[in-house]
Amino acid sequence: MRKRIIAGNWKMFKTMAEASSFVEEVQSQIPVSEKVEAVVCTPSLYLSELVKMTEGSALGVGAQTMHEAKEGAFTGEVSPHMLADLGVGYVILGHSERRQYFNETDASVNKKVHAAFEYNLVPLVCVGESLEQRENGQTVEIVSEQVEKAFAGISPELAAKAVIAYEPIWAIGTGKTATAEDANEVCGAIRETVRSLYGEETANGIRIQYGGSVKPDNIAELLSMTHIDGALVGGASLEPQSFLALVEAGANE
Ligand code: 13P
Repeated sequence: MRKRIIAGNWKMFKTMAEASSFVEEVQSQIPVSEKVEAVVCTPSLYLSELVKMTEGSALGVGAQTMHEAKEGAFTGEVSPHMLADLGVGYVILGHSERRQYFNETDASVNKKVHAAFEYNLVPLVCVGESLEQRENGQTVEIVSEQVEKAFAGISPELAAKAVIAYEPIWAIGTGKTATAEDANEVCGAIRETVRSLYGEETANGIRIQYGGSVKPDNIAELLSMTHIDGALVGGASLEPQSFLALVEAGANE
């Protein structure tokens, strides 16, 4: 049985005061359940404080990106060594906004996946097709290739610990969600790719999230699908009660 993972991606939102008041409110009401893991991926500036605030709680804290090197002359970047040193548990890698605006490629994502594992961070590896690619019938081909390239050189044991987030680019921040059936079909194809790379055990163990306009009122249907093990949520993760509703959906049947 795969443990669901509900992760909020705050992107570039919230002040420090707003971030800590969110965490206080969520922590006091978060359901503790064997079925679900809850994580907020916050701006790097807040990670140190939020990791301290959440010590021993059911809420995990993650970064939204990182450089692949331990340290070096990379002005403005944050390293896996720094994240691990703070006690951060997770890192989003290869988000489509990073690929689109900050030149991340399948090759750089692969380096970052290696680096995340080296520092015991759980990578949330994002893949997804553009509208044009979907309309051309290339969805499965595109996401499978992204998965193969992101995991090149990663062992089956480590791959099983990763989370893959399927986020169709056309569904991010647009209010357009893939239908649960369409999302499940692509997540199933991703699992098939993992099976062809690593075999049955890793394919059955790896967790695959859906992301793109997930909200409290559509999450239950998405989570009812066989290949969808959680959600990576932008807009609807910013409000404490909305985020809690998403985690509660993950704790339900
Ligand atoms: P929205 O939930 O706002 O569509 O964002 C999805 C996303 O990009 C999460 O990483």
